[in-house]
Amino acid sequence: MFAAIDRQLTVDLGGRNVQPLYAAARDDEPLVAAAATPLLAAADAGETVLLTTGFPIPPSNEPETDGPLGTVVLAGALADLGAAPVVVTESRVEPAITAVADALGIEPPETVSLAPPESSAETTASTARSLLDREPGAVVAIEKPGATADGSYRTAAGEDITPLVAAVDPLFTAARERGIPTVAVGDGGNEVGMGGVQSAVEHHIDNGETIACRTPVDALVVAGVSNWGAYGIVAALSLTAGRELLHTGGTERELLDAAVEAGCIDGVTGEATPSVDGIHGAIHADVVDLLADICALEIDTD
Ligand code: ZN
Ligand code: ZN
Repeated sequence: MFAAIDRQLTVDLGGRNVQPLYAAARDDEPLVAAAATPLLAAADAGETVLLTTGFPIPPSNEPETDGPLGTVVLAGALADLGAAPVVVTESRVEPAITAVADALGIEPPETVSLAPPESSAETTASTARSLLDREPGAVVAIEKPGATADGSYRTAAGEDITPLVAAVDPLFTAARERGIPTVAVGDGGNEVGMGGVQSAVEHHIDNGETIACRTPVDALVVAGVSNWGAYGIVAALSLTAGRELLHTGGTERELLDAAVEAGCIDGVTGEATPSVDGIHGAIHADVVDLLADICALEIDTD
């Protein structure tokens, strides 16, 4: 069933060639199962889980609709299971996190602002240290720009967005050094976590050599759209915990409207429409319904 969820998530409607990235990321276990395991352990122990998201899209530099929805839905599921989710992001993204949580009907997760993009390496490192001093059970990135080989941050088209990005790579590197499990979701190769499949990104993705992220994580989920990857992890948590934790397609449309209302734009078209990566909201609703139906079927018949 986990493998079936993985397959559902990697339908490549954006035409980005995500299959080779999936193949490179896949080990023995389906990706959503590998990602869910440390998260469930953190929830069972009542630990903090840090989640980061927020991808600025030039020229308006507003955050894209991919990321905040998946992050809030995963945060809600983790809270249901006993974890204390904390969303770590740029102040510009925080209104979207709150708005999506309101639309989902959950208590908005605690948010912590990242050191702004112009911060020194020392400030960024000390932000990472103070976050990790909360002793999180896991650190998660969902559609978060990741540093490339030369340290710059890039859009899928290769545009340099370094001045817009609050670096979270040091947080993931430091978490790995401390033995804290790291999880990430990405859909294009330029996101935190893709360092684990960097050469596949360089070979198989348009502009791959320019945009490939160098920062790896312990458990990477590759998806056609990053929100779907987060929903797939929630589906895996549902199946493992025997509890229905996903929302519905109807609610997905409301989350998308709320994100757009709070300033998010489509990362592909740059427009303030209820769409993600150039894909209409109806498709995202269908993906959520299918995942939720799969979970309901499994949980009922067990
Ligand atoms: Zn992406
Ligand atoms: Zn995306």
